[in-house]
Formats: sequence, structure tokens, C-alpha cells
Amino acid sequence: MGSPFEYAPAPESRSIVDIKPSYGLFVNGEFVDGHGKSFKTISPATEEVLAEVAEADEADVDAAVKAARKAYDKVWSKMPGRERAKYLYRIARIIQERSRELAVLESLDNGKPIKESRDVDVPIVAAHFFYYAGWADKLAYAMPHSAGRGSDPQPLGVAAQVIPWNFPLLMLAWKIAPALACGNTVVLKPAETTPLTALLFAEICQQADLPPGVVNIVTGAGGTGQALVSHPGVDKVAFTGSTEVGKAIARAVAGTDKKVTLELGGKAANIVFDDAPLNQAVEGIVNGIFFNQGHVCCAGSRLLVQESVAEELLAKLKRRMSTLRVGDPLDKNTDIGAINSAEQLARIRELSDIGEAEGAGRWSPECELPQHGFWFPPTLFTGVSQAHRIAREEIFGPVLSVLTFRTPSEAVEKANNTPYGLSAGVWTEKGSRILSMANQLRAGVVWANTFNKFDPTSPFGGFKESGYGREGGRHGLEAYLR
Ligand code: NAD
Repeated sequence: MGSPFEYAPAPESRSIVDIKPSYGLFVNGEFVDGHGKSFKTISPATEEVLAEVAEADEADVDAAVKAARKAYDKVWSKMPGRERAKYLYRIARIIQERSRELAVLESLDNGKPIKESRDVDVPIVAAHFFYYAGWADKLAYAMPHSAGRGSDPQPLGVAAQVIPWNFPLLMLAWKIAPALACGNTVVLKPAETTPLTALLFAEICQQADLPPGVVNIVTGAGGTGQALVSHPGVDKVAFTGSTEVGKAIARAVAGTDKKVTLELGGKAANIVFDDAPLNQAVEGIVNGIFFNQGHVCCAGSRLLVQESVAEELLAKLKRRMSTLRVGDPLDKNTDIGAINSAEQLARIRELSDIGEAEGAGRWSPECELPQHGFWFPPTLFTGVSQAHRIAREEIFGPVLSVLTFRTPSEAVEKANNTPYGLSAGVWTEKGSRILSMANQLRAGVVWANTFNKFDPTSPFGGFKESGYGREGGRHGLEAYLR
């Protein structure tokens, strides 16, 4: 079934962003040329080259860490919290003022639909800076045990922060806002496929008159990240990305006194009981796996549906999936944008082919994909067993694996049967069942009758191979304080 409506194209204008042909590194409050090579960042929707970006080498990383150290020793750690808060509030307000520019640039460089970057990512980014600005002069209340000793909790020093490409600006905010609020200075490395909004954020730091060296941005790939996290001048490492790289980072910092937080992968179960409001659940399932093309660490990539309603739910889900619009990320009607890179597309294709080869039933609605760029249709697999690789491995794309269960205990067992433990969803009319499930699910976040809801006041993080440490909320401060 095709879409019941034909929409006229409604593209957001890209004239609001001024992309420079090339970018240097942001060190000590200024853009400087790197010593290393440079690389191109492209729009995944069209493969158009957007800009040339410097690739920081060890010497560049060293300069950035030294700038952060100097700013920490001389300015930022000495500044009262209420003064640091003013800078964070200023940054938050500038993000709001420049929100359209940030949203368009994020959609161009990442491929995500403009309605997500505009209505989800950028507003939560601003909210994060507002929220942590509020904590900067109240740290003693966040950590009452330290106030009991008669002193404010102390920052750690220089934080090395490495982030992935799925929520470039949002992950930057999750890292930088609490670090600065607590009095640390930072060197952040954005992902190699999505450096542009971090570089625009650097301009925002200049606009906010943030003292030089408090925020430094070094662009580059894994080698740059490795040089950053293993630099001896770093006191804290915060990483969001794959479990594999997280393990490599844990090994690289073992034996040092660097504090580490790791936010890694996931394979969340979205569990639908037979008493759930099914139409509402369908919206939650769609949001859980097709939001941001499924490039979401906490995506509801395993649908566990109670057997008695499986047929009815799947029929509704297929009907709803047929209305999803895949295409131009800058079109305001688009639901599913481009896959972020050729490598990620290859991985999604490979795992989906394996799903078929292992015997699961593959289904996608009819949809025309653009000729250029990286695209994958919304896809679901039925008849999936727990042994299938598509039920065990993170696909990080718009691909849903459907499993069934008969009893609540079977649902819990299947949901927890994963090396990950980042998030889960429960759909039921019974409040007592929600609480009982939440107690038994080994996941950092459990959503009830909703999915993929984020709020700066709420801590986020994982169990098992999904990592350790919490970001967001009061708990998020602990990672940046002694
Ligand atoms: P990735 O681990 O390949 O890359 C993440 C970042 O690490 C990039 O900036 C990359 O350049 C850098 N990097 C690569 N090798 C490095 C090394 N040896 N040392 C230091 N830095 C290195 O992950 P990705 O493909 O960019 O992102 C997808 C993954 O991120 C998924 O597994 C997803 O689940 C996870 N993720 C987790 C969360 C969370 O909060 N738990 C949020 C978003 C994404």
C-alpha cells in the first residue's frame, strides 16, 4: 500500500548556513591549521562534498590538551560556579538563537530529517546547557557528602571527549555541558563523518566570549581519538561509540589514574503485552526503531510481542510503515533520512542479508529510494529466533527484529538475553506490570508506554557491554567531579 497522501516537496532552505570550503582545528579559542592531512566531509543524502576538515595529529592533540590545561589552571577552575554558569547560559541562548542554522547543518552533514534535528536534537542541546548552567553554582547540593566536609566538590581537570556520528551536536552537549559546569576544561573530538556542527559550536564559544582553551575541538578519525584519550595530560576520558572501541579505550587507559565513562551500544527490547493500546504501541515501535534511521544506541531494535496479539499488531505496524516517507533530509515531510555513511550502509545490508539467510522473513514497504547517497528502506524481520544474528547484534539502522512471547517471565528472559543493557520499553495498561517489568529488566532506561524520550534531568547509561557511568541529571555531574 502506498502513501494515502501525496505531499508537495517542502524543503528547508540551506541558505541560512554558511559552510566554509575548509576548516582548521579549534585550539585555545582560535581556528588553527593542523599539521596533519585533511579529509572531506560529505552529505550522505547526495554524496556532495560539504567541506575539507583538518585531521589532527599527535602534535595538534598535544597543543589542544596544553591549551585546555592552561585554561583550567589559570581561569576556569578558579572561576566561581556562578560565573561559569553565565557562560553556559549564554551558550544555551545562542544555540536557541542559531537553532535553525544548527539544525540545517546537522541534517546536511548527518543525513537525519530536518524535523528531528529541528524539533528534537537542537532543543535538547539547548536544554542541556540550560540545565547544567543551573548546577554550576550548586555543586555542593548535588554532592551533599562533599559539602559536609566543608568544601565544594572539585573538578577533575582536562577532559578528553570522543563522540559518535549519530547525534553529533547532542552528544557534544551531553559531554561539554556537565564538564564545564563542574569546572573542567575539554578537548572534544567529533566523529569523522559529522564534524561540522562541532565546528559551528566552536564559533558559538567565540561568540559567547568563553575564555580561550576552555573548549577545544580537534577533528579527525580513530587515530586522533586514540592520541587524545592516551595523552598523559588528560584527567578524564568520556567516550560514546561502539563497544569495540570502548573496550580499546578501556585498555588504553588501564593503569593510569584517568577517570573513564563509556556509553556504548545496545540491542533494546520493546515489549508489547496483549492488553496494550495497540495503535499507540505501533507509534512507539516506529519511533523506537525508525527515529534517526535507527542510528540510535537505545533503539528498540527487538520487538517482543505477546503471541495472542502478534498478528494484529504486525498488520497495523506494516500499514503504518507504508506511510513513512524516506528521502531528502531537508524536506520537512521526511520521516527517514539518509544512512550516515557508505560503511554503515554496508553493515546494515550485510546483517539484513544474514537475517534472510538464517531464515527470518524480511519485509519492507514499497518505497522509492533516491539515486545518489546512502539509503535503506524501513525493514522488519519476522520469525526471528534468539539465536539469529539480527536478534543479537546491533544493526544500527532502520531494521526491526520481531520475536514473540507467551508469558511475562518469558518476555523478561528474552529481553535480558543480550550482552547489552542500555534501554527497554514496556507497553501495557497495567501499572503494576510496568513496575514489575522495570524491576526485572537489566537496562539503564526503561520507558513505559513511550520510547526514545530524552530529558537533561534524567540520567542515561548502560549495564553490561553498554558501558559504565551515567550522563544527564545530577548523576551526570559525578563523572566530572573528584
Ligand atoms: P565508533 O566507536 O566507531 O566511533 C566513535 C568515535 O570514536 C568516533 O569519533 C571515532 O573516530 C572514535 N574512535 C574510533 N576508534 C578510536 C580509538 N581507537 N580510540 C579513540 N577514539 C576512537 O562508533 P560509531 O560507529 O561512530 O558509532 C556507533 C556506535 O556508537 C554504536 O555502537 C552505538 O550504539 C554507539 N552509541 C552509543 C551511545 C550511548 O549513549 N550509549 C550513543 C550513541 C552511539
